[in-house]
Amino acid sequence: MKKIIVMGAGGFIGSHLVKKLKSLGHWVKGIDLKYPEFSESLADEFVIGDLRLLAFCQEHITDSIDEIYQLAADMGGAGYLFTGENDFDVVHNSALINLNVAKCAIDSRVDKIFFSSSACIYPKVNQQDPNNPNCEESSAYPAEPDSEYGWEKLFAERLYTSAKRNYHINIRIARFHNVYGPEGTFDSGKEKVPAALCRKVAMAKNNETIEIWGKGTQTRSFLYIDDCIEGVIQLMDSNYSQPLNIGSEEMISINELANLIIDISNKSLGLSHIEGPIGVQGRTSNNDLVKSRLGWQPKITLREGLEKTYQWIATQVVSTTATV
Ligand code: NAD
Repeated sequence: MKKIIVMGAGGFIGSHLVKKLKSLGHWVKGIDLKYPEFSESLADEFVIGDLRLLAFCQEHITDSIDEIYQLAADMGGAGYLFTGENDFDVVHNSALINLNVAKCAIDSRVDKIFFSSSACIYPKVNQQDPNNPNCEESSAYPAEPDSEYGWEKLFAERLYTSAKRNYHINIRIARFHNVYGPEGTFDSGKEKVPAALCRKVAMAKNNETIEIWGKGTQTRSFLYIDDCIEGVIQLMDSNYSQPLNIGSEEMISINELANLIIDISNKSLGLSHIEGPIGVQGRTSNNDLVKSRLGWQPKITLREGLEKTYQWIATQVVSTTATV
């Protein structure tokens, strides 16, 4: 049994990760600014606090901790990250968290840290063709992320990597690609595209249209939460300390994604395209390296994952509407 801290344990991926680590028999302390929104945390201890504060980090990152999973970040979907309106907060908040956590982990000689980076670190120039984006791990440099969020993630990758180089901290870095599933935010303004589209479809009546930002021809791939968690556990158990993609290679355009969700809902709906933040033209995971290093690849198809997610969001939407 290890003593583990999950930072960002009140968030989407963090709360699922706590469940998994508990099922593996570990002692888990969750830290976040908030409790999980949709179900109770299974953490042995849950501390509400702000990781931007060094003294708070020093209080909790102590010699008795074996591992840290650092998922806390100021993040959201395109509506939050790609409008430019939240850039300073996104960089400042997440950089402070990572600076504090890395320093305290060094001082307390924590055995191993996991850091959740993002596909948003990849250069814009390699993601202009929706049919042929390149997100191989080795393509990260020369760097040109298309958002400040991506730059902060790249900075943090370098921070943890230099902690390893100079202080021999054991690190693991995943570059997540669009993770989705039940218990992810769907109407907070920080929701990502699968959750936003599930919500729009669930709320629409037959023969209405749902709004899509941009032309909908931009492509992405989406990773179901259970596959993501399995990838994180396998990465932590491996001896690989450089950044690895944890994503799906099932690339789809946003229009196709919307139509897939409509099909799952059994409704008859149209799409109407409006102006909105869309990010890069194409992005999908390249899993060659992660397959060869970990033997990991996603098991759940996009359709299977969306069926579970749509069902969960549709139930949430119905219960929210019923209580208004
Ligand atoms: P999330 O927003 O649901 O979770 C992040 C959590 O961090 C939130 O609960 C938030 O309250 C917490 N947090 C923020 N600032 C904090 C602070 N100062 N002190 C303590 N807690 C703080 O996001 P998520 O989808 O669960 O993502 C988890 C991690 O994975 C993030 O680092 C994110 O950047 C990364 N990531 C996620 C995706 C994805 O598709 N979900 C893709 C790429 C990378």
